[in-house]
Amino acid sequence: VSRLVLVLGDQLSAGLSALQRADKARDLVVMAEVMDEAMYVRHHPAKIAFFLAAMRKFAARLEAEGWRVAYTRLDDAENSQSIVGELMRRAEAEGADSVLATEPGEWRLIVALSDAPLDVHQLPDTRFIVSHEEFDVWARDRKTLRMEYFYREMRRRTGLLMEGGKPAGGKWNHDHENRKPATQDLFRVGPMRFVPDETVERVLDLVEARFAGNFGRLRPFWFATDADQAERALAHFLRHGLPRFGDFQDAMLAGDRFLHHAVISPYLNVGLLDPLDVCRRAEAEYLAGRAPINSVEGFIRQILGWREFVRGIYFREGPDYARRNALGHDRPLPALYWGAETGMNCLSHAVAQTRDEAYAHHIQRLMVTGNFALLAGIDPTRLHEWYLAVYADAIEWVEAPNTVGMSQFADGGVVGSKPYVSSGAYIDRMSDYCRGCAYSVARKTGQGACPFNLLYWHFLDRHRARFETNPRMAQMYRLWDRMDAGRRVAILEGADAFLVRLDRGEAV
Ligand code: FAD
Ligand code: SF4
Repeated sequence: VSRLVLVLGDQLSAGLSALQRADKARDLVVMAEVMDEAMYVRHHPAKIAFFLAAMRKFAARLEAEGWRVAYTRLDDAENSQSIVGELMRRAEAEGADSVLATEPGEWRLIVALSDAPLDVHQLPDTRFIVSHEEFDVWARDRKTLRMEYFYREMRRRTGLLMEGGKPAGGKWNHDHENRKPATQDLFRVGPMRFVPDETVERVLDLVEARFAGNFGRLRPFWFATDADQAERALAHFLRHGLPRFGDFQDAMLAGDRFLHHAVISPYLNVGLLDPLDVCRRAEAEYLAGRAPINSVEGFIRQILGWREFVRGIYFREGPDYARRNALGHDRPLPALYWGAETGMNCLSHAVAQTRDEAYAHHIQRLMVTGNFALLAGIDPTRLHEWYLAVYADAIEWVEAPNTVGMSQFADGGVVGSKPYVSSGAYIDRMSDYCRGCAYSVARKTGQGACPFNLLYWHFLDRHRARFETNPRMAQMYRLWDRMDAGRRVAILEGADAFLVRLDRGEAV
């Protein structure tokens, strides 16, 4: 009897554990485009197109390599529109009695496969640098889990940027050099763009017809959709972006949506690139003297450190993680996240670029859209659904710990030791957004005061009981307490008035 081999949309790697274990001569690969996956949140059209195009090309590659592939297209008449439904249908047609799968990157699907009325064997996903078991061994006896210590351990274990047992460049972390604001630079080239081929064009037409109502612009579509293209995008970044990646890692510019960022997260997350290989290639640029240590260390930390760390957390914390709400925030997601007009220039830019590109870089996600939601007390589950929907790289294992944990502190401090909150001053320092804003970042109270300035203190004040004993936040509480009482009242009243307008759905 033959077996089925399930390959999901984010499992497009030749080295996938299920494929490695399968028998090309006998087993049938099952791949399916289904509405269940396309619609459980209203994904950005470019995200849907990226996944479908990359799946179709990967299926064609498997066939060219001699695999038998049963591929279901979204508009096939017999499509049952769910992964388990498609497995059942193919099992019956094939007379197969078992399924080889690689563990999905989302609890929802892991549970669905475990509960399926079929014998599904879920193999570990080996496309990561650290396994669940290794992460658990590292985490087991620690009271708190901090990325920095995990990262150092990973540097030692992989030997990346290590010189004789010591970190290359004399220290583990070069972050203090990586906080420079950027200026317009016409020679910055941005990510490599690809002209849609025949396969991609057909997918774009399909997505246009079926998902026109979803938030987000579909064309021009320029993502890489196969391993060769992703490899070219990576090589392009290593040459043009990496050397100055560090310097401008936290910078934001209204006129430059990508700066020196790699824009490879979609490719890494569906398996078109391999994380350890990407790190080694970046290290080679440092060793060859083509990129400085602050850039290469900063870049490798994101992948070897953060990416592996958040994955460890997601699987360790369990299926309820994405629904946590430690701060009890319950405000609905404001319409401005879906493009409604706002005078706040930073948010307006971050959301417009998200709509146009299905991409925003880390500081925009963390310190603009994330920071605002946290200060304003937005329900973290709704925000999580937003991030999951709007970014081409969003898969729950990586999106949820970043949103629920790092950005919203809704996990109560598992990912981060303190909430990432800031007033407008931080955004002003790191960007040129404030210059074109209807609000004034210099104004702390009264008419026209930057809402981040008001809401920052409102947040600290309403969560005093939880945070005032946090040593990393004590200084801010001292500042607040030393402020003139009348000024404090004015700030809190200004923030409340702003939130009332937000709740009424007024343009803010
Ligand atoms: P670069 O800045 O060039 O970094 C290189 C690579 O490092 C990225 O491609 C990515 O793979 C990795 N990386 C960097 N930061 C992180 C991080 N915090 N966690 C995990 N990997 C990281 N990343 C996703 O891949 N998917 C998501 O759904 C996602 N959601 C996020 C939600 C919020 C609220 C926040 C604050 C961050 C989120 N991130 C997510 C992390 C990060 O913002 C993106 O990985 C990054 O912006 C991708 O763009 P890039 O490839 O240009 O990254
Ligand atoms: Fe954003 Fe405030 Fe600056 Fe306006 S003034 S861009 S709201 S930080």
